[in-house]
This record gives sequence, C-alpha cells and structure tokens, in this order.
Amino acid sequence: MLSQYDLIIIGAGPAGLTAALYAGRYRLKALVLEKMSVGGRILLTEMVENFPGFVGGISAQDLMQRMEKQVRELGIEIILDEVKDADTKLKVFKTCEAVYSAQSLIIAVGARARKLGVAGEDNFIGRGVSYCATCDAPFYKNKHVAVIGGGDTVAEEAQYLAKFASSVTIVHRRDQLRASPILQERLEENKIITFALNSIVTGIQGKLKVESITLKDVNTQKERTLNCGGVFIYIGYDPETGFLKNKIKLDEAGFIITDEFMATSQEGVFACGDCRPKSLYQVITACADGAIAAHSAYKYISAKNG
Ligand code: NAP
Repeated sequence: MLSQYDLIIIGAGPAGLTAALYAGRYRLKALVLEKMSVGGRILLTEMVENFPGFVGGISAQDLMQRMEKQVRELGIEIILDEVKDADTKLKVFKTCEAVYSAQSLIIAVGARARKLGVAGEDNFIGRGVSYCATCDAPFYKNKHVAVIGGGDTVAEEAQYLAKFASSVTIVHRRDQLRASPILQERLEENKIITFALNSIVTGIQGKLKVESITLKDVNTQKERTLNCGGVFIYIGYDPETGFLKNKIKLDEAGFIITDEFMATSQEGVFACGDCRPKSLYQVITACADGAIAAHSAYKYISAKNG
C-alpha cells in the first residue's frame, strides 16, 4: 500500500523533530520515520547543559520527550520503521513495512559512533567495550576504565564514568584535548581522572571480558599494557547515509552536502542535523538546521502547488 504525504522526515532526533514541529505549524501533512527510538543519539547523553533556557541543564530524555510531545500535539505522525530504499527523485521510500511517497523530503538521519578498528574491539562489544557511558557506566562500579578520544564527548563521558569507576584514564593520540575549555577544567579538577596523552590503542585483550588494552606512545613507538575492565570509545561519528549513496551528493566521509537553505543536490530533498558537514555538532545547531529545512520544504511545496 502506498501512503502519500506532503513531507516525509527521516529521523526523529533533535533535527527531525524540529523540522516536524515547523512542518506541523505550516499545516503540512507530514510523516516522521524513525528506525530506532524517538529522540536520537542525544539520548546517550545524561544531561544537556547548553540548551538555552534550561538553567542548570535538562536531562536529554526530558528534553527529547518535550520535543516529541510538541510534535504529536500538532497531529504529526511518527512511525517506527527503517527506510531501506529511497528514490530521492520520485520521493518514494520503502521500509520493511510499507511504501511512502511525498512531495518533499527532509533527511535527518544523524550519525553513529565510529569504531577504533583495533584487534579485540568487535569481540568485546558488550563485554567491556562500550560506546555509551550513560547506558553502561553502572556495570563498571569500582573498576578501572579507559576512555578513548579527545573531544567534548570524552570529557563529558569521563566525568560521568568517574561517578562509578575507581579510576578513569583518558587516552588521547595528541598532547592536548580538543574538548571545550570549561569541560577540560572539570577534568583537571577530578582526582579520579588521569591522562595517557600521545598514545593510541593498538589492541584490546581479555578472556571472557576486557582485562587490558595495549597503548603505543606515538613519539617513542613503545608499547605498554594498561589494565582495565572497560574501554569506552568516543572518537567521532559517521553519518548514517549508506542508503543515499549515488542518489544525492555526499562528501568523502558520507555527509550530505547542503547549501545554507539545507537543500541537497536533489530538488525538493533537504538535509539537516548531524548527517551534514558542519563546524559544530550540537542539539541547538541540529534544531536550527531542522527549522530551516522545514521552511525550505514548505516554500518548495507551496511553489510546486502554485
Ligand atoms: P570530535 O570532537 O570529533 O572528537 C573526536 C576525538 O577523537 C578527537 O579528539 C580525535 O582526535 C579523536 N580521534 C578521531 N579518530 C581517532 C582514532 N582513529 N584514534 C584515536 N583518536 C581518534 O567528537 P566528539 O567529542 O564526539 O564531538 C562531536 C561533536 O559533538 C563536537 O562538535 C562536539 O563539540 C559536540 N559535543 C558537544 C557536547 C557539549 O557541548 N555538551 C557534548 C558532546 C559532543 P584529534 O583531536 O587528534 O583529531
């Protein structure tokens, strides 16, 4: 059965939900398709401290539930189903359950955690290797854990892990982190957190669970073993755009190329949030993208229908 809409939004993270909010206010017949759970990757974070208006922060879950409620109150449909194939020209999408078509499309599919690609990583996923401290930190009570990377995510997740673990070592490949200064100051103040700088992970070892990792000093090339019960990996994200390959223009890393109106290389198709290349990946910038994408889609649909 073919279901027809004015606008289909793929992805129900902050970008997709904001696009849906604006679409609802433009009175478009819109559908949001989400493959996992409404809220997106931000749900892996405990608190959002930098969304304007929430003094003292707001839990990521609370923020996303509020966004979902706002969208549903406008009568926008949200269906949990994964888009398997997309004809971006005709704007027809096949999921496991149905076929949908629309006059315009907004892609807000976000990105997934990047893997280190070292020996042992895949073997120990769920048995000491994790990409989400918010989900798994309580399993590491009184254990030593290593946290890999040097960005904002590492800084926040190491702080969170320090509430549970006996000690936390941040392993970073350069001599300084790239995390925001305010987050770095908090790391320096936390006695449980130490650093292994200029170091890369070359292997993850253990029997049933992770017991140690091998670190290589990038200057001396010397290797050493760091005993730990868990490894949390935060080395960036890759866009979830595999199903769009050869259909719209992507950059080398697979991010969707857009202009300032969120327009992609395909007429009537817009992209927003973490699946496009940008200088700052935040909830606030994803929301801003989503609002612009919905406005552009509304203008496109209005012009098409005279
Ligand atoms: P990121 O800023 O891209 O940092 C990734 C880190 O991983 C970098 O330090 C990078 O090292 C390192 N790395 C990359 N590939 C590696 C490899 N193969 N081996 C070892 N290390 C590797 O990613 P992120 O921290 O997840 O942040 C993503 C975006 O979300 C950023 O814009 C960030 O500001 C934002 N964010 C914001 C907040 C907040 O403000 N509350 C929280 C989380 C995330 P180099 O530094 O050497 O490149």
